[in-house]
Amino acid sequence: MTPKLQRFLAEAKDTEPFVVVDVDVVEQNYRELRRLLPLAKVYYAIKANPAPEILRRLRTLGSSFDTASANEIQQCMDQGVSTDRISFGNTIKKKRDIAWAFEQGVRLYAFDSLCELQKLAELAPGSQVFCRVLMECEGAEWPLSKKFGCAPRMAADLLVKARELGLDPYGISFHVGSQQTDLNQWDKAVAQVSQMFSVLQQADVDLRMVNLGGGFPARYRTDIPMLEAYAQAISDAMTKHFGNKIPEMIIEPGRGLVGDAGVIQAEVVLISEKDYDDDRRWVYLDIGKFSGLAETMDEAIKYRILTPRDGGPTGRVSLAGPSCDSADILYEKAEYQMPLALEVGDKIQILSTGAYTTTYSSVGFNGFPPLKSYCI
Ligand SMILES: *Cc1c(COP(=O)(O)O)cnc(C)c1O
Repeated sequence: MTPKLQRFLAEAKDTEPFVVVDVDVVEQNYRELRRLLPLAKVYYAIKANPAPEILRRLRTLGSSFDTASANEIQQCMDQGVSTDRISFGNTIKKKRDIAWAFEQGVRLYAFDSLCELQKLAELAPGSQVFCRVLMECEGAEWPLSKKFGCAPRMAADLLVKARELGLDPYGISFHVGSQQTDLNQWDKAVAQVSQMFSVLQQADVDLRMVNLGGGFPARYRTDIPMLEAYAQAISDAMTKHFGNKIPEMIIEPGRGLVGDAGVIQAEVVLISEKDYDDDRRWVYLDIGKFSGLAETMDEAIKYRILTPRDGGPTGRVSLAGPSCDSADILYEKAEYQMPLALEVGDKIQILSTGAYTTTYSSVGFNGFPPLKSYCI
């Protein structure tokens, strides 16, 4: 945790949970990614955290932005991002949103189906389009699975079709799954993509771009490889499969840019036991699945948690949120330990919570407010 964050947390007078993001850390992460992957253009996936301060800082640094809806495009434009730096990367778009985006000047679109391609041909004529291919997402702690992308052979046909429809078949995208911990996944993906480049070249379609998606990690409870190792894996894969004809590269980091830059401060509301001979305590916080910690679903993302009583003896706990929904349990199987001295009213810190917390927080389930956000 940076001294700036520490100071802010120590002085905070909030009575509700909040997340605070150190925007300087976002900047460091951006610079680090650019340094390690100088050939890749960064499109920040704004769904991870669309706070205006983050968008402005990244805009100033030269970043581009990956958006999923008309609203996200507007959020970027509101912070002075010009539309030639925005991609409409969702493969599921309403016709009227495509038309609106095109009118604003957005010229880069994702698709993974004939239906979507036809919409783009009609409402965003002449635009650069890239096709997303299916990935298995093995090794990802937050997999994106079968919802996005199509099989490579279908993608190849669709890119030929894109040209017939008057669009510019620009490239291919994939996403190996969020919080990807298996570096081999990029090699597997790039191998497939380079093959598609060859296949399409035979059909006289010259693709120019590979969009390597996100998947860059934040530091949760499980150890992860260094960012250097990610960059090396990607560079190696590109060189191995494209040789000296490396196409334009796009990366779309979300979590990797903002995850570690944020900390949530929350409060212990209740500490209880379920039976006399049960040594497991239940610790209820004033934040849960519906107020920012949705990624604890299936205990997928395991955050690091600090308490003011760390250092003393600890015991097993189940951690849960404050709402009256039985799904609002954060960790039951993940074997969390907390100090035996923990008390009701203690402020705890949940680390690396700059990504996918404010955006996943409900607007007021059970009357609990949406997660408050500060950027410093
Ligand atoms: C969510 C998303 C990302 C960001 O993924 P991270 O793993 O958070 O970096 C990038 N690209 C697309 C298309 C996405 O949907």
